[in-house]
Order: sequence, then C-alpha cells, then structure tokens
Amino acid sequence: MRLLNELDKDDLTKVGRTLHSFAAELYPICRSITGNGIRQTLALIGNQIPLQTVEVPTGTPVFDWTVPKEWNIRDAYISKPNGKRILDFRDCNLHVLNYSSPVHATIPLNELRPHLFTLPQYPEWVPYRTSYYQETWGFCLSDNQMLNLKNEDYEVCIDSTLEDGQLTYGEYYLPGRSADEVLVSCHACHPSLANDNLSGLVVAAYLAKLVAQQQNRHYSYRFLFVPGTIGAITWLAKNRENAGRVRHGLVLTCIGDAGGFHYKKSRRGNAEIDRAVAQVLRHCGEPHEILEFSPYGYDERQFCSPGFNLPVGCLMRSVWGSFPEYHTSADNLDFIRPEQLAGSLRVCAGVVDLLENNRRYCNQIPYCEPQLGKRNLYRSTGGDAIGTETSARLWVLNFSDGEHSLLDIAERSGLPFAAISDAAEVLSLAGLLSCNHAIAGEHRNHRQF
Ligand code: ZN
Repeated sequence: MRLLNELDKDDLTKVGRTLHSFAAELYPICRSITGNGIRQTLALIGNQIPLQTVEVPTGTPVFDWTVPKEWNIRDAYISKPNGKRILDFRDCNLHVLNYSSPVHATIPLNELRPHLFTLPQYPEWVPYRTSYYQETWGFCLSDNQMLNLKNEDYEVCIDSTLEDGQLTYGEYYLPGRSADEVLVSCHACHPSLANDNLSGLVVAAYLAKLVAQQQNRHYSYRFLFVPGTIGAITWLAKNRENAGRVRHGLVLTCIGDAGGFHYKKSRRGNAEIDRAVAQVLRHCGEPHEILEFSPYGYDERQFCSPGFNLPVGCLMRSVWGSFPEYHTSADNLDFIRPEQLAGSLRVCAGVVDLLENNRRYCNQIPYCEPQLGKRNLYRSTGGDAIGTETSARLWVLNFSDGEHSLLDIAERSGLPFAAISDAAEVLSLAGLLSCNHAIAGEHRNHRQF
C-alpha cells in the first residue's frame, strides 16, 4: 500500500483547495461537546466517508467522568432597550460562551460585566471561551465592542437548552489483514475556529478516504471524530477491551496554519509511531520539531493515560497556545492555508506508508555484496557518486539480516524511508531479499529497538 503514490498523482494545489473548501463548509456550524452542532458536523464528514455515528446518553459513567447534558442553541444576543442588537450570535457563534445555560433578562451594565469576556491585548478579536463543567452563561466580544457599552440597561438573551440527551461521536473503521489498528483521532467540538479544530477534521477525513481506496491494507484503521476530552474518554470507556489493538496512533490538530510541524511523542517516547513520524518529518522539506510527551494538550492525554499507555502521539503545525490567534476569532479560514493542509495530509500519508511497509528482510546472498551490475541494479549517476537509488539498495542489502527493519535502515542511512522501501521491493523482485514472515515482522512481533 502506497498512499503517497496515489496522492502525488493528484495536483497537490487542488488537494489543498479541496481540503480548505471542506473546512469552509464546516466553519459556520456552532459545535460544542454535545448537541446538534457536532451531529451536523459528523453528517457533513459522513458525506465524504461512511462514518458511523455513536450516541451515548447523558449520565452514562465513563471512568471518573459522566457524559454531560446535551447543549443546543438557537439564538443569542445583547440588545439595547430600544431592541437594537449590539451583539448577535448570528454574526459569530463565538459570541456565546460555549455551553452557556439559557438566560433572558434585562440588567444594568454592572451586572452584565462579570458575564463578558474580551481580549484586551487584541482589541479586535473575539475570544473563544467555554463553561462545560460549571453551569453559567456569558458572552464573548471584542474589547472594542465592550468599550462601546454604556452605563444603561441591556436585554440579554441566550436561547439555549441544556438537557438530558446524548453525547455524539463519529467513528470509521476500515478492516485490514491484521486486527492490529492504526488510530487517527481528532476533536470536533470547537465552533467557528479553523486551525483548532477544523484543520484536523478535514485532513483526517481525506486521509481516511485515501486509506479506503487501498485494497491491500496490512493494518486495520480507525478514524475517530470526538468531542475533546469527554469524547475520547467516552470512546475509551466503551472500547476498554479493544483499545490494546491500537498499535500506532495519531491525534491531528492545528495542522493548517503557516507554521512548521511539531510532533509530540507518545508517553512511551520510543514507539514505532514516534520514530515513524520523526523519519517522515526529517525528509518532508518543511521545518519541524519533535517534542517530548507531556500530560496536557489534546486527546493524547487520554490515550496515553497510564492505564492505557497507547502509542499515540500528536501531530501539529503551530503548537496550541503558542500562537496569538489560538482560541480567538482570528483562528479563521484565512489563518489556515490550502498548501499547508495539503502538506499535512502528505506527511500523514507518508507515516501510513511507513507503518504499512516497515518489515524485516533477509539478504539471500550475505557473503560479500551480490553483483548488482549484472542484474542491472547498479546505477551511478555520473562521476563517482552513487545516487540515492543505488545507495538505498546497498544499505538495504547490508542490513537485511532479519534483525533490522526498514525503518532502522532508513534511520541509520539517513535516506528517506520511501527510497529504502523502494529498494527493498526491487531487491525482492530480483530474488536478493526474502521477507520470510516467520522471521520478518515488525508487523508480527512488534519488537522494540
Ligand atoms: Zn482548542
């Protein structure tokens, strides 16, 4: 299975535009951890891939947590006594403190103030705030809007409901030859915010599409679109027994901005996924940085909680909280870029290719080098230099002793995994390598190095 070959047949600029326009389609929806916003979002993702939607009732215990009430909102505003709206949910869904309880009252400014949230350091931007686990109501607005408020009465209305209902998440499972799974998870609970979290959703959905087009999958794949924190906890609670099938996992988020890549390693720190992502990033042609695991961030926190300790890392471009647009109205559709979305999809495809093709081989002629020239496998690219292709063949032959995986060889040689994997394929066809499954397998026995 080679996703990159498929992806590179397409015009990457076009792919980027498709990803961006899907994000634009999802952008206006007012999502939260429960309710119709996330349902509507999953329905749109379901137009791209056959997503299974799971509903879990309010009050269901999930480890130390409880599935919360379902939140839905129809309208919200602050208006002057003459009825003129000065803040309108219909203009921007960030204006409502996400998960606000309902309110309808006329109150003086001094009573309203404690319910208003602004960002004085960016006076034009509206902050994104939530009140998931503490029932209250509030509005978010730009500091400039706040400064315009006068000492008079205001009508405040949040036409929302917080009632017993369901927590909704989406799941797409693609079986492979092995029951071992690759997990790709992203949170789908943020309203009109583009990098966090729409970029992750659109890249994951298109990655799923690419994987689905491949017939010859070694691994099974599971794509999760869940509300942050409580969704991952709920999925793990419902899948406690099967979670151990996850051999490699990635949380995708903040993956569409102009920044370089950041990969936060799994709690294990040396899992194959950690090495795989580092290897792909090393050769992706964009700036990148590898970060150690920390127990905060996104849903890797849950997958890497000590009881599970799954090999799940988090792939980002700019790290959450490190860019001023984070959790503000400035994280909009202009903040994410088609070429960056496409570049992120390409990295994810490269990681999948690596995981699928990382095997151990045995050199069939281990006593001195086999003569590649007479097999038409030795090409020098002029002068004394041997090209990447020939170099990769020599590396693969030398280290294919049944002990070293192709990823080991890629790391040791400094060559891109794709070149190493291509070399293994050519050498196998020429009968110089065998991939004996009895001895092979990174896939089989998951040896640690
Ligand atoms: Zn966030």
